[in-house]
Amino acid sequence: MKAVVIDGEPQVVEVPMTELEEGMLRVRVRMAAVTGLDLDVIQGRLRFPGVPGNAFVGEVEDVRDDRLRHWVGKRVLARGSYGCGSCESCQNGQEHLCPDRVSPGRYGASGGHAETAVLPAHAVISVPAAVSDEQAVLAPILASVYQGVLRAKLPEWTNILVIGDGGAGLLASIALAEAGYTVTVRGKHGDRFDLLRRHNINFNLVHDDVEIDGLRPGRFGPALMSYPYVVEASGHSSGWNAAVGLVAPGGAILLMSSCSDAIPRPVARVQEKNFRVLGLREGPLEAALRIMEQELLDPSEVVTAVVDFQNALDAYRRARTADDWLVLLRMRD
Ligand SMILES: [Zn+2]
Repeated sequence: MKAVVIDGEPQVVEVPMTELEEGMLRVRVRMAAVTGLDLDVIQGRLRFPGVPGNAFVGEVEDVRDDRLRHWVGKRVLARGSYGCGSCESCQNGQEHLCPDRVSPGRYGASGGHAETAVLPAHAVISVPAAVSDEQAVLAPILASVYQGVLRAKLPEWTNILVIGDGGAGLLASIALAEAGYTVTVRGKHGDRFDLLRRHNINFNLVHDDVEIDGLRPGRFGPALMSYPYVVEASGHSSGWNAAVGLVAPGGAILLMSSCSDAIPRPVARVQEKNFRVLGLREGPLEAALRIMEQELLDPSEVVTAVVDFQNALDAYRRARTADDWLVLLRMRD
């Protein structure tokens, strides 16, 4: 089968099929997203020598054991990470505490930038018929936003600043605005304005030179403007710096991106301003899919390119530019 392999530079190459062990499903990938996490892996900021691709949808084409036969033919979404299934935490329904957690395309298992992927049955969920591949593949990003709402216990109607107007930032801002929050996006690209206006989202357009130092709205109070909740979705350490500057004392930063391009510097200000930092990755995928099924939200409106898998390297290049908001890979039939 064909797969992207990172060996220095990423390449589309022929690799042997992964063997199908007991309890595993072979998924023929239909569509995969190119997420910020994938770009971190592809560009070597996060080291992973295998097949990238953390968010993907496919059809189960084969299983090893008969008790899993009912999965064959089902359209499924891969979970962003999953536990071993047998340790005490996993047995007690606390898979997120499993010490042997696996994250496809990040650590422990090959991802979905390939023609097929092999996953245990508890690492996938069924995609409802009414939800398209384009929508389903974005469920993990939405789910991480909903996880942030739950974990930060966001009060109704509160003000939220989303830093970053790439795909993740746009999806986060739309999800939050549609959930009733007052959202402002801080970004660098004016071509997002119409989309944000459709969702009643404020837009704070900044230039590169402002981002370098971040705004300084006063040490202990909002001299310019500060926000009780700030979502960092820019993927860059400059976004983290801006978040630290703009979060109100006692507030919370919800970290959607890894900011792995540099060590986040102003750690002392976490204590100084007494704010919380919540790292977001996984979330309630079922809820995200249900919201799409009920047509409450269509995340595919932020997709600006669907690229054939053969041209995966072109897709990665496009995902890094400001011209495209969110890029998907389509596997040809
Ligand atoms: Zn476990």
